[in-house]
Amino acid sequence: MASSPDHMRVHTLIIGAGPGGLSCATTLATQGVNTLVLERKEIIGPKVCAGGITWSGLISRVPATLAEKSFPQQHIYTPLQRVSIEEKTPIIATVNRKKLGQYMAEQAVAAGANLRTNVIVRSIAENTVTVEDRASGKNEKISFTCLVGADGSSSLVRRHLGLKSTQLGIGINYQIPGNLPKMEWHLNNRLFGNGYAWVFPHSDTVSIGAYADQKIMSPAKLKANLITWAAGKGFTLKDKKARAEYINYDFRGWNFGNTFLVGDAAGLASGLTGEGIYPAIVSGEQVGQTILAPGHSSVTMDNLIRKHDKHCKMVTFSGKNGFVNAMLAEVVTLALRSGMIKFNKLEMAV
Ligand SMILES: Cc1cc2nc3c(=O)[nH]c(=O)nc-3n(C[C@H](O)[C@H](O)[C@H](O)COP(=O)(O)OP(=O)(O)OC[C@H]3O[C@@H](n4cnc5c(N)ncnc54)[C@H](O)[C@@H]3O)c2cc1C
Repeated sequence: MASSPDHMRVHTLIIGAGPGGLSCATTLATQGVNTLVLERKEIIGPKVCAGGITWSGLISRVPATLAEKSFPQQHIYTPLQRVSIEEKTPIIATVNRKKLGQYMAEQAVAAGANLRTNVIVRSIAENTVTVEDRASGKNEKISFTCLVGADGSSSLVRRHLGLKSTQLGIGINYQIPGNLPKMEWHLNNRLFGNGYAWVFPHSDTVSIGAYADQKIMSPAKLKANLITWAAGKGFTLKDKKARAEYINYDFRGWNFGNTFLVGDAAGLASGLTGEGIYPAIVSGEQVGQTILAPGHSSVTMDNLIRKHDKHCKMVTFSGKNGFVNAMLAEVVTLALRSGMIKFNKLEMAV
């Protein structure tokens, strides 16, 4: 598509170079579609995240060198149980989000996508966006045939479509130096509502954090409880910098004519666990396929949405009251321990 010097035109404009935007860009550019990705951050990748990816979902799809540590064993703690489950293959691995982002950006660029960083999309009008270059402060307009909102939990594209986001989880992460051997999940209704706290070891750091539904627990309370709980385990977080973000699980559709939503912008993260990298990548690919061929089979997307819906139902049920949640946590943990349910039932991969 032709561009004049003052007004660029592209076929598909993707806002956001997270895993969702980058997987969509690679899918489209591989087939020769003129694709531009705009990212407000200067560096692609860094994101508040525990960096957990699952075997059923992603471990087998990213180069082994990206995995910081892999864990065939998972340790689950409740007020009444301490459970270790083990499988032959790693259940979860940790990745550094900067390295994952850089790898995915290289894939997109190698496929032929254009990528611009340090630019923020300020507004969207019909088939045109206004973009601010953060270094120069200058504005420019870019026109598109298709628009993909891959701009995360506070998506501008989602707001432009008039969609609300009321189902939100809150994730708080501390990335501290350390080299630990065990991946841990801590379910405790009193401290973390219907969410959990985690210890996810990376190569030379450890992600310690907590996730909860914001309707059940305020971010301030979750943070205070996390700090107190971690101190009891010998981690001093009080003086460290916490980073927190909302995780949108309020799915209200993904295909709106020439405008599409992927990942957190679509509300496709799990409300139950906060897992969002896999849904972002898969929905990015599926939106790409749909732009390439509007009649593209929606089976993969439908399966993802069905899994997402199951997680929503579980989070709604477990959030009904503290007693129900505490009992459910014990029952699920017991079922994992006895092998009645497999860990991957709690994952977003289908
Ligand atoms: C504390 C915490 C821990 C988590 N841990 C895990 C985990 O262990 N495993 C897991 O699978 N998921 C985890 N998640 C969720 C996961 O991080 C997200 O679901 C995932 O990153 C969503 O990918 P995305 O591509 O949809 O959006 P994002 O990764 O949020 O990317 C969106 C991009 O859009 C850019 N952007 C936004 N607005 C604009 C704009 N106007 N103009 C230009 N660019 C813009 C942003 O800068 C960003 O780079 C965690 C989240 C939190 C908060």
